[in-house]
Amino acid sequence: MAVLETRNLHVAVDGKRILRGVTLSVKSGEVVALMGPNGSGKSTLFQTIAGNPRYEVVDGDILLDGVSIKGLAPEERFAKGIFVGFQSPIAVPEVRFAFLIQAMLNKRAGKKLGDANPRLGEAYKLASELGLRPDVFNRGIGAGFSGGEFKRAEVLLALMVKPSIAILDEPDSGLDVDGMAAVSKALTKLVEGGTGVLLSTHYARILKFLEPDRVYVMYDGRLVLEGGPEIAKKVEEAGYEQLFKESGLP
Ligand code: ADP
Ligand code: MG
Ligand code: MG
Repeated sequence: MAVLETRNLHVAVDGKRILRGVTLSVKSGEVVALMGPNGSGKSTLFQTIAGNPRYEVVDGDILLDGVSIKGLAPEERFAKGIFVGFQSPIAVPEVRFAFLIQAMLNKRAGKKLGDANPRLGEAYKLASELGLRPDVFNRGIGAGFSGGEFKRAEVLLALMVKPSIAILDEPDSGLDVDGMAAVSKALTKLVEGGTGVLLSTHYARILKFLEPDRVYVMYDGRLVLEGGPEIAKKVEEAGYEQLFKESGLP
């Protein structure tokens, strides 16, 4: 059982305060969804948990199983079982996608990055389930990936790594209907395998397939609402402005 928590997290980027006291948690086997208008700080939270050095923790803490990970480098956080997706599409065309998978599996297992990994065969099966063509493995990371391929590849990585906690920034963005179903199914499998998933989304649709234990709404760097799947439905039907008004928020 793993628990990832942020406690009263305040974060600045280039000296500008973005997060203003974010306290949330996600544990093994849970699905936690983060919603909120554009620019509210969702990606900032995820980058901070990943350990991106541009994101400065000015107050509060990030804990894994009760122990602070604030001082750890991104790869150390990964080795401890925290997987954060590609975030915004990164492209590293000189590194093949297959090598990235191998390197991540080895890092997680405490081996050398280049060691052969017998589990690579599983990746082909998963690719097929996710509707990814097998040539994806020989392509550079992000080399000409479509938005949908990026999201599918990210989920494939998560399923290969089997992290304690997977953090996915808008895993449903840019996916067609079939892609949404395939990604939701794959994420359900990940959760059934014991991984805790924290994801951001703008849509209720993915949460119909992947029932969240909690839904948080972020606004201006704070969590302003917390509830169940009904929040996602309200966001989609009424929009944030209306929802905030109904909830008596300024
Ligand atoms: P969301 O993911 O909810 O759309 P973001 O975390 O991307 O929100 O952005 C929150 C706020 O932080 C926005 O005002 C954005 O302009 C600012 N911001 C995010 N990343 C950076 C950055 N790297 N440099 C400067 N400002 C940033
Ligand atoms: Mg956004
Ligand atoms: Mg974002």
